[in-house]
Amino acid sequence: MERSFEKYFRQNRLPHMWCPGCGNGIVTKAVIMAIEKAGFSQDNTVIVSGIGCSSRASGYMDFDTLHTAHGRAIPFATGVKMANPDLNVIVLTGDGDCTAIGGNHFIHGCRRNVDLTVVLFNNNIYGMTGGQASPMTPTGKKATTAPYGAIDRPFDACKLAEAAGATYVARSTAFHVQHLADMIKGGLDSHGFSFIEAMCQCPTAFGRNNKMADPAKMMMALRDGVMMKAAWDKLPAEKQAERFPIGVLCQKEYIDYAKAYDTVIEKAGGRA
Ligand code: SF4
Repeated sequence: MERSFEKYFRQNRLPHMWCPGCGNGIVTKAVIMAIEKAGFSQDNTVIVSGIGCSSRASGYMDFDTLHTAHGRAIPFATGVKMANPDLNVIVLTGDGDCTAIGGNHFIHGCRRNVDLTVVLFNNNIYGMTGGQASPMTPTGKKATTAPYGAIDRPFDACKLAEAAGATYVARSTAFHVQHLADMIKGGLDSHGFSFIEAMCQCPTAFGRNNKMADPAKMMMALRDGVMMKAAWDKLPAEKQAERFPIGVLCQKEYIDYAKAYDTVIEKAGGRA
């Protein structure tokens, strides 16, 4: 059987380090599916990641890749895009990386509308660094830093991205692989800051802390915890609170940062 996706991976870096049943591999495959559908080549696509389990994905992918510092993937990616706006720049990040340590970079990337596609692997916890609660750990769920259950309210990262100025915002899950790939492809096709939340399972850090370490059951929970946006929109408010909408949540036009910066270059007398 032809394994057409192998060419996108660095065979000498495999096998990967993710735990059995982890959702990170599923989301990474969906990113590759979207890249292939978008027709991007390995020579004009740059993958940038921060730190954490999901950020290890960039090391396995056979593109030009940057594995950067914790929370700093978006500023590195901004630099790449501003230096060469013709490149397709994709950021792979986790919920801790993007919304805690990198939270300010995230909102300002949205505000500037930098032409990036940011895929947030949301497993609701810090996996690699020890199972601490992240800003996306649901209230009441346990973590090593919240052994009696988190009391903080979690971010809705999609609402945060939209409010901060992202021009394409979508959500899907590791259960809905084809849908997830389509959502990421929508981001790749958009010009401006595209944000896709990929809800996925971490059976080791989140699962074990919350008595749900079976990856298959975690995927069923992903399936049952969401609803397509069109159907979700018709629910009464109290029912909407029980599930996350998946699909395209926001899509609008606004000048991207590199094009806006061209006007500065022009006013300053052009490129040297
Ligand atoms: Fe995946 Fe969680 Fe294991 Fe990290 S700790 S590799 S996120 S299952």
